[in-house]
Amino acid sequence: MREASPNRRGLLTAAVLAPIVAAAGAPAAHATEKTPEGTRALRKDLEQARLSPVLKRALFPDPVIIETLELLHDGAVYYIRVRSRDGAEGFAMTNRRLAPLAKPIMLKRSLPYMKGKDARDLDALVDGVFARGLNYKHQGITFWTAVSWVEFAILDMLGNIAGLPVGALIGDRTLNRTHIYYASGNRGNAPEAEVALLQSLIAKSGAKAVKFKLGDRLDYSDASNARDEALIPMARHALGDKTALFVDANSSFDVSRAIETGRMLSAHGYDFFEEPVRFDDFDGTKAVADAVDLPIAGGEQETSHFRYRWLIENDAVQIVQPDVLLGGGYVRATRIARMAAVAGKPIVPHISGWGLGFLHILHFASATPNIGPYQEFKGDKDGIPYEVIGSGAPLQVANGAVDIPTGPGLGIRFDPDYVRALKQVEV
Ligand SMILES: [Mg+2]
Repeated sequence: MREASPNRRGLLTAAVLAPIVAAAGAPAAHATEKTPEGTRALRKDLEQARLSPVLKRALFPDPVIIETLELLHDGAVYYIRVRSRDGAEGFAMTNRRLAPLAKPIMLKRSLPYMKGKDARDLDALVDGVFARGLNYKHQGITFWTAVSWVEFAILDMLGNIAGLPVGALIGDRTLNRTHIYYASGNRGNAPEAEVALLQSLIAKSGAKAVKFKLGDRLDYSDASNARDEALIPMARHALGDKTALFVDANSSFDVSRAIETGRMLSAHGYDFFEEPVRFDDFDGTKAVADAVDLPIAGGEQETSHFRYRWLIENDAVQIVQPDVLLGGGYVRATRIARMAAVAGKPIVPHISGWGLGFLHILHFASATPNIGPYQEFKGDKDGIPYEVIGSGAPLQVANGAVDIPTGPGLGIRFDPDYVRALKQVEV
């Protein structure tokens, strides 16, 4: 049996997880008090966290009026370029899978809304674009991605003006390097093949943590159960006690199967169990969390901060997983992180594949005090023509960790010839 220590829920936590729980710091005393006074105090603190300003406006004494916003593309990938009235510039890549779907929202909603506004009002702009007209009726990931990309470009521009990386604009940048974990996206392969893949991911990167899939994505079957039951002990045995192991069920199970699986994971010292039941079955998620001895992680599909507040307030998830790209950007992800911190919960951000999701996780991690010790990384297979300012190379993993860019804004530079050749979409 692995070494274990009590966590704040009075349960047993695998030793590898200890840094993740410790990352969150102690919860406010009333976060664990189940009295009416404790509940009211917790709600008050969560609201204060949700509503407190994020962008450090004091860094920008003069107005930064957004004069132009351009949507550019290379035929497959879209980019956003913003310029201020005074000639400052910001540039951000979109996600190639989601941008074609979100393009009409960018063209008709998020880009026109930001035009002519003062970028220093970023917190209010992110709220305003949602509240304007009937935009709130489109709430969800497709809407918020169309806001995130604009926010990234604006923050890149503000970082260029201040000479600071994004993390320093939204908080105190305290992290320059972070450990990473790799996630396998496989389902349906043989357990032996999956373990071999996880071993190869660890061997090539030095990662000390990996994640793999369970269930059958929003479903499970006799075949997926058999794979899960073989894979869970096999992966632990093959990868050893010092590797942090995470699993993601992508909403596969009903509550009883999730509890059964959770107990199996717990018996083998797994470190978190992501989306055990349908992501929007909050009661079900809480029922699983209450019944098993390992942390439940979730949040990647969620874009409502009131629903995030419920998940945190009711301890339905113990690890909170906002996605900077899917959820509206850094300002909104920071609000979630601050709510989680009130309840002593760590953040392990969800990553958006296909794009620079890993870059945004790094900047977000650099300024989020309750960030977990391992960030998901997919940075070596996107083929994006960029380099980290100052290094002349793309982000690279060494000994299981990656340096967080320190240059202004997003801290990267695209190949100038590539950018010059991009075509413009009329906004
Ligand atoms: Mg997931």
